[in-house]
Amino acid sequence: MRSAGVRRREVLLGSVALAAPRPSAAEPLPLVAIAPGLFVHAGVHEDFAPSNRGGIANLAVLLGEEAVAVVDAGGSPAQARDLLAAIRARTDRPIRHLILTHHHPDHVMGAGVFRAVGARIWGHARLEAALRDRFAVYRAAMERLLGPAIAGAEAVPIEETVAIGKPRRIDLGGRPLELVAWPTAHTDCDLTVFDLGTDTLLAGDLLFSRRMPVIDGSLPGWLAVMDELARIPAARVVPGHGPVSAPWPEALGPQRRYLEELAAAVRRAIRAGRSLPALLADPPPAGDWLLSEDNHPRNITAAYKELEWE
Ligand SMILES: [Zn+2]
Repeated sequence: MRSAGVRRREVLLGSVALAAPRPSAAEPLPLVAIAPGLFVHAGVHEDFAPSNRGGIANLAVLLGEEAVAVVDAGGSPAQARDLLAAIRARTDRPIRHLILTHHHPDHVMGAGVFRAVGARIWGHARLEAALRDRFAVYRAAMERLLGPAIAGAEAVPIEETVAIGKPRRIDLGGRPLELVAWPTAHTDCDLTVFDLGTDTLLAGDLLFSRRMPVIDGSLPGWLAVMDELARIPAARVVPGHGPVSAPWPEALGPQRRYLEELAAAVRRAIRAGRSLPALLADPPPAGDWLLSEDNHPRNITAAYKELEWE
């Protein structure tokens, strides 16, 4: 039964809505519990489209006794509002921290939604510069690709930075997190989060699983960082793209094989004097990677441009 009071409130809200249209009501984003107090939303293996609202990356929520941290903000404010609704359906503890793993749009476009509810923004020491360089370009592209979902997206200041070689800790109340900034790999501002209580590594896009990796930093750099990552004593990993949880360090295997074979093939071609267009005409690599039609040629091009200067 709905009371007269509820109906009256709806009437009042309705009159406010006439004056200033509200965004459509948030639908809690589906979250999967992969460890106690650790929830992950699975990104879809698609290109950016209005139907997915930029929701192609995995997003994580960590609940402590006192506070909540969110790892990556989603691909649009619309998706972020739904992630916020999913958190609020589970806890009313304050969302004190938003940790951004790097500057790509599927990870940062929803950041303003969490800043507006009081989260401090964490990132690699180079993240702010990366966002300064690219955010406007990304937002224009997302307006074209996503439509209304991107409305209100804003670049956020990085209030807490993590420098390479100087890990930092956040405690959510009985839940310490270690944040590590990495040398150039997937991008030049990759950050990982290690949830020490559950031995879970949140790898951001330093790990792609099933969806083909994309090089926007350095191919040899990424391989070197993967060697370091493999030493982290995690039980499981949350990849930036792929399943919500995978065994560690075994989950590194397919990406390592792909990147090593790519580096070897490109170095062979450069030594043999083959041109980039000739290399791009070679058959695609083995393995059942998703979205390889677009990503593999991009990776060959990035690798060729980097490795021809070796
Ligand atoms: Zn990325």
